[in-house]
Amino acid sequence: MQLVFATHNHNKVKEVQMLFPQEIELLSLEDIGCMDEIPETATDLEGNAIIKANFVTENYGYPCFADDTGLLVDALDGAPGVYSARYAGEQKNADDNMDKLLFQLDKNTNRSAHFKTVIALNINKQQFLFKGIVQGEITTQKKGEKGFGYDPIFKPYGYDKTFAELPLSIKNKISHRAKAIEQILAFFKNRPHVNK
Ligand code: IMP
Repeated sequence: MQLVFATHNHNKVKEVQMLFPQEIELLSLEDIGCMDEIPETATDLEGNAIIKANFVTENYGYPCFADDTGLLVDALDGAPGVYSARYAGEQKNADDNMDKLLFQLDKNTNRSAHFKTVIALNINKQQFLFKGIVQGEITTQKKGEKGFGYDPIFKPYGYDKTFAELPLSIKNKISHRAKAIEQILAFFKNRPHVNK
């Protein structure tokens, strides 16, 4: 089965590709000739995931899934949340976003946070939602070169390294996105007729 992952983010495609079995061929937006920047205008993660998945299904007719992720920081009442990508401005720059977050938290000792991913899957004219969460804390400085986005300042509970220091093989076992994808894989396993 061919399944579109509605993202332009090559890091995400790389992470997710590793989680899917060979019989599900993952296509990126570029693979289907979609160069559009799909507007993320909803006020929650669910809404944005649905907008992106529906855009692909309506315009390209492929079975498709889209994810939307937010970093929710307890001491900031859940900010940046759904606005994580453009936290420091429309340039959507990861370093600027991290700098702003570190500045906002300053010397705050409550540094707990979680990543939340919502995935909308459109298949056989039906829509299904999946969620994944990973709890952790925001470090006081950036560490590590791997990953993307907020990875250099997020340390998952149970580890003494940030996501940007941990190998992808570990991030892919415990991350928000990995947990949501696990549910999609279980969904396909329980409904083998769906992915024909
Ligand atoms: P989106 O889901 O691609 O819109 O991501 C929203 C924001 O969260 C962007 O700033 C991403 O870089 C960031 N983000 C998404 N997934 C991850 C992740 O796995 N690690 C770190 N940052 C992420």
